[in-house]
Amino acid sequence: MNMKHQTGHDVVILGAGYAGLSAAIQLACRTRRLANVRVTVVNAQERFTERLRLHMTASGQRVAELSVPDLLDGTGARFARGWVTAVDAGARTVRIDDEHVLPYDTLVYALGGVTDTAAVPGVADHAYTLDGAQDAEMLAGRLAGLGGGTVVVAGSGLTGVEAAAEIAERHPKLKVVLLGRREPGAAMHPKAGAYLRSALDRLGVTVRSGVEVTKVLPHGVQLAGGEIMPAAAVLWTSGTRVSPLAAAAGLAVDDRGRIITDAALRSVSHPEVFAVGDAAAVRQGYGLMHGTCQGGMPTGVHAALSILRVLNGEQPRPFRFGYYHMPVSLGRRDAVVQFTRPDDSPRRLFLTGRLAARYKETVTAAPWPTWGRMKKSPALGAFWPRGGRYTRSGAAR
Ligand SMILES: Cc1cc2nc3c(=O)[nH]c(=O)nc-3n(C[C@H](O)[C@H](O)[C@H](O)COP(=O)(O)OP(=O)(O)OC[C@H]3O[C@@H](n4cnc5c(N)ncnc54)[C@H](O)[C@@H]3O)c2cc1C
Repeated sequence: MNMKHQTGHDVVILGAGYAGLSAAIQLACRTRRLANVRVTVVNAQERFTERLRLHMTASGQRVAELSVPDLLDGTGARFARGWVTAVDAGARTVRIDDEHVLPYDTLVYALGGVTDTAAVPGVADHAYTLDGAQDAEMLAGRLAGLGGGTVVVAGSGLTGVEAAAEIAERHPKLKVVLLGRREPGAAMHPKAGAYLRSALDRLGVTVRSGVEVTKVLPHGVQLAGGEIMPAAAVLWTSGTRVSPLAAAAGLAVDDRGRIITDAALRSVSHPEVFAVGDAAAVRQGYGLMHGTCQGGMPTGVHAALSILRVLNGEQPRPFRFGYYHMPVSLGRRDAVVQFTRPDDSPRRLFLTGRLAARYKETVTAAPWPTWGRMKKSPALGAFWPRGGRYTRSGAAR
């Protein structure tokens, strides 16, 4: 199919997070002179959800408000605000706010993921999450109203660590307890992990590892074994789940509901659907990618390039990505940046202290300059580490 000879082709991108916007800007900028290719981005809100700063928002800090239409300005992509309520993969339409129907020829599915609030009883009713600016602002309001007491952060992964550190730094009168199965920083080099734990200690965060929260209560949490830990607020950061829309549409999904993609990031069941970011199950030589902005933005850019190749009657190329770092903020003045192998295993090299904090801030703010460069010259957005031998075809899976 050579699109240059067709009457029109609608690409609809669902979700304007890091991955969806990367796809939209890359594709729209490369097709803005082609009247027959239309790119439409659908997102629940006009405001861009800067997930990488939600722990800052939750601790009461003001962060810049970015607007999706502004970020798309000059690209030629259209923006439609609304909640996607269904995808009809047979009819090739999406339903927005249950009212409007938007047809597509090619769909980019970039709806991300949210905290899994269903796995443990009480989470949905009594815990705060970091799923969007509003959720984070609700927690900030709660914390601001507390003169003292305990805040439990459940989940000792990187989001839990960043949130616990930020809350402890901004609210020294509160006792912050970080609960989790694994020791915080367990995925890092032992020395980097030890630094991370000593920083949490310096900030006054009490860490309890090897524990399982079995229930969230109105005023605390219950641990396996029956212990009740009272808390004035509980932040839940453990586990993620994706929207059920893809599975409901009959797209092939994995056991977590993520769209299973081929090497070019197309759905294995519906090749006119591309899946990117946290909503996609993308396999590399080292295994399935896990949800990060680091890997999500390249998936968006690659999907855009794959769509262009298909429109030009060419075969899309396989997506290759290798991790390179794991930057973790520890309040505003400290951080650990663990450098990694392409499969995300830790190298010996890591940064700490103010240098690491500056590095982390640069990474967090990096999407805007990246998108700005892409708008001027789309090819400049197409650089990321490909993973070398870890992602060459034939690498072990
Ligand atoms: C506190 C925190 C810190 C993090 N720090 C890091 C970090 O340092 N480095 C890193 O690489 N990753 C980090 N992550 C993970 C990173 O934020 C995610 O991997 C990334 O946001 C995934 O991008 P995405 O585009 O797939 O999804 P998202 O960024 O979640 O975007 C999805 C978009 O789709 C919209 N949407 C969802 N459902 C619908 C619907 N039905 N209708 C309409 N719109 C919808 C959402 O509103 C959102 O705008 C962090 C996450 C959190 C929560």
